[in-house]
Amino acid sequence: MALWQRLSKSILLSFLAAFLLLYLLNTGSAQAQTPDTYTVQPGDTLGIIATRFGVALDVLATANGIADVNLIEAGQVLIIPGADANLPVIQARPGESLAAVADRLDADVAQIAALNQLDANVRLFPGQPIHIPPGLAGAGELRFGAVQAVRLPEQIIQGRTGRLTVESSRPISVSATWNGLPLTFHPIPSGPDSLWQGAFLPTPALLGPGFFPVEIGYAASAGTVFSRTFSVLVSNGPYDSQLIELPNDKGGLLDPAFTQPEIEKLYALWAIADAPLRWSAPFSRPIGIEYPTTSPYGTRRSYNGGPYASYHAGQDFGAPAGITVTAPGDGIVVLAEPLNVRGNAVVIDHGAGVFTGYWHLSENFMTAGQAVRVGDPLGLVGTTGLSTGNHLHWELRIYGISVDPLQFLEENIGDWQTGTH
Ligand SMILES: [Zn+2]
Repeated sequence: MALWQRLSKSILLSFLAAFLLLYLLNTGSAQAQTPDTYTVQPGDTLGIIATRFGVALDVLATANGIADVNLIEAGQVLIIPGADANLPVIQARPGESLAAVADRLDADVAQIAALNQLDANVRLFPGQPIHIPPGLAGAGELRFGAVQAVRLPEQIIQGRTGRLTVESSRPISVSATWNGLPLTFHPIPSGPDSLWQGAFLPTPALLGPGFFPVEIGYAASAGTVFSRTFSVLVSNGPYDSQLIELPNDKGGLLDPAFTQPEIEKLYALWAIADAPLRWSAPFSRPIGIEYPTTSPYGTRRSYNGGPYASYHAGQDFGAPAGITVTAPGDGIVVLAEPLNVRGNAVVIDHGAGVFTGYWHLSENFMTAGQAVRVGDPLGLVGTTGLSTGNHLHWELRIYGISVDPLQFLEENIGDWQTGTH
């Protein structure tokens, strides 16, 4: 082969390699983009949505596994097919067709073809990124290095908490983030052939809807880093909106000098997530069933006509002064003192990053450092601090994120051996 031929061949190969690398880098950063989903609004039809996004009706239906195009409902989150969809991505293996990828994942080839807007018979090049439906997460891709399995929820409702389980063949120090939030793993009862560790996935009430990344990795002894990125669908929560007008004379109360010290103190406590899991049953109601919800968790709030940038971080129960408030589960009291905004406050560390808070108490029976068992009296309902009447504000925080505490009454989320993720 002549020199110029060899040269041009090597130049061509370098170009191809660089092009492939760029392509892979680009597709690997999908999570930074706007999630390509749409929440069905009242009055929408699938046909209207397909037209709006310039997608063929049958492609939109197939991509979402919808058999009857008339069966969609308001609030449902649809994936809008296209190359930028922030869906889990796997890479084609040498010689694979789209049908072979679907076969390997035990998935529907028509759905994968629609999601990628590719013909089912198209020939794939090795390493070609292929978007797959959430929840599948690629059967073969859930194992990497010493990680034998990763278990994730298919979707989490805004304001609710999911669970992540990593199974490994040997002890490994796993690190993970949920939409950028660092998670703390703790050991959980394991299977016969593997070690299990788990972390909660607290989801803010204002996140999404859309797909958000869970990144999981660990460093092997040779210094090699094994990591994978998965996607979890965050779907709409059932939250109302509320306009709040603050009178001018309350302005002084929202002065940061008044509000900030306790915020810093509480967030410093909530950041400590390495205590062992201290409960393994559904939480008990912290106040009698006769005291109803007066303001639920998650209500979006706009102050003086501003944007809906915050939400009610807890659950309010209406009750007269002097009603006993009890611990919903075992834990250690980490704060018991009067605060400017929250009034007489108690915070319990239940382990694994889960904290509960009780605000506005008229009396506080606790001292910091004290162990509590489920049902122990913590204090009495009141209206201390920035409060307009007697009530119990109950709050649940994980890594500092406030989530719906009622889920912890309904589900046995502390027991990793039961229930779904
Ligand atoms: Zn409240």
